[in-house]
Amino acid sequence: MSYNNPSSSIALTGSFSHEGPSRPPLVIDQASSTTPIVRQPTRYETQKQRDWITFGQYLSNYPRPSISISECNYTHVLGFLRYLDQFGKTKVHVQGCTFYGQPDPQAPCPCPLRQAWGSLDSLIGRLRAAYEEHGGAQEANPFANPMIRSYLREVKDCQAKARGVPYKKKKRKKAGEKTADKGQAMKHPRQRRNG
Ligand SMILES: [Zn+2]
Repeated sequence: MSYNNPSSSIALTGSFSHEGPSRPPLVIDQASSTTPIVRQPTRYETQKQRDWITFGQYLSNYPRPSISISECNYTHVLGFLRYLDQFGKTKVHVQGCTFYGQPDPQAPCPCPLRQAWGSLDSLIGRLRAAYEEHGGAQEANPFANPMIRSYLREVKDCQAKARGVPYKKKKRKKAGEKTADKGQAMKHPRQRRNG
């Protein structure tokens, strides 16, 4: 298959943006602005563009018969997300694996690699914006379908359990807890030698 590797297109997402942007960033809007804004595309927009192309390629290669973007509904989006899993790099332990629920296993295991929930979540956010920017109607936006949200929740839940990663918000400050700053040091615990 000469299909270019879509994992590269969502590998750059970096840190998780929770729900995706609340609204897509404005593209140059000459009508409403007195100062001409010449902008370089942000990394977000470049990524969004790439994701959009990847999704278009998926639609023309995988559903049989292939469909156009205007014909696509949430089932195709779900198909796309599942399809991307084969390019994933996140180990998700199956129930029964000794490392199930362990964030940092010490040995390899045959469990599958998947797309991390956070990557899928931000991917969907970008595609949802891209769909409307390409003229899709908001009401018909397949990326905004509740089934997608529900699928993502399932993935999140499943990965949190399998990997022992709680996906909590980083609100850990407790009043009066002066040692809270050790968080970083504790990520890479080292054995200390007393002597
Ligand atoms: Zn495993």
